[in-house]
Amino acid sequence: MKKLSMVVLATSVLGAALAGCSSSGSGGSSTEPSVGVAIYKFDDTFMTGVRNSIEKNGKGIAKVEIVDSQNSQPTQNDKVDLFLTKNTKALVINPVDRTAAGVIIDKAKAKDTPVVFLNREPLPEDMKKWDKVYYVGAKAEESGTLEGGLVVDYWKAHPEADKNKDGVLQYVMLKGEQGHQDAELRTKYSIQAVEEAGIKVEKLAEDNANWDRVKGQEKMAAFLASHGDKIEAVFANNDDMALGAIEALKAGGYFTGGKYIPVVGVDATAPALQALSDGTMLGTVLNDANNQGKAAVTLASLLGQGKEITKESVGFDVTDKQYVWIPYKKITKDNMKDAQ
Ligand code: BGC
Ligand code: CA
Repeated sequence: MKKLSMVVLATSVLGAALAGCSSSGSGGSSTEPSVGVAIYKFDDTFMTGVRNSIEKNGKGIAKVEIVDSQNSQPTQNDKVDLFLTKNTKALVINPVDRTAAGVIIDKAKAKDTPVVFLNREPLPEDMKKWDKVYYVGAKAEESGTLEGGLVVDYWKAHPEADKNKDGVLQYVMLKGEQGHQDAELRTKYSIQAVEEAGIKVEKLAEDNANWDRVKGQEKMAAFLASHGDKIEAVFANNDDMALGAIEALKAGGYFTGGKYIPVVGVDATAPALQALSDGTMLGTVLNDANNQGKAAVTLASLLGQGKEITKESVGFDVTDKQYVWIPYKKITKDNMKDAQ
């Protein structure tokens, strides 16, 4: 009798270990845990790349379900609740509002369901709430510095870029979503890189275009209306806004008959690479959607099985036990293939 109960106990302990230690229910087998993914909105060019990567790299390691939070934090919270009710083994969350991460962590922790945040970095105090919380992203400062470097290289090689010959670079800035780490830090560090290269700058205008191509076009048209040919460079926090700006510039007679202006973005999306090869976009910075998606779904798969998180198991460096940083890369027409 005693022997039998020991066997039963040992078996159930082993069973729990195989199933990923804790939660019970129909959340997936031990080898392919269910992973619930909530993207801030499907209608975002860069996040579509990340989404495709999660699907591709999740094959064989997780049962992935991806949902659209439609740019609404309450909607995303509902989706998280639904995943948790279904006993999903791990979550991958691309928050709508990064300051809402704390609420999501509380919900997930109550069900012992690990969370991997993606692309929108939670505040450090929220990350510290639980050790089963991770962030996969790229250092926003780095992308800004590289983006600024693209303009520095151009300015130094092309004295005619200083159209009014005052020794100062007159520029306009298209910003991404307010409060997003990538919008704030790319804006700051891109210009800082130019100044640190010894170039004086003058900001003619700056406006928010919410990562959006159509808004980028509208804002650039407005900049042209008020500053016209005084503008000597266009910085955009992402490629979609840069591409919108290029449309407005084309309508303003640029990129034909020798009329040129350097435009830079970040992401290296397919349409941006096309613009590089067309010669309308000067340069961009590779925001590696493929590796960000791969790292996120690999982490979630391991966490969902209760497995240990190490550099070897994930295949990426893990910093401070909670962060996976994917490097950026400067891209111009000359090294475009590195981004394809
Ligand atoms: C990308 C943008 C994207 C945003 C979404 C940024 O890292 O550069 O293109 O719209 O993330 O959060
Ligand atoms: Ca000038």
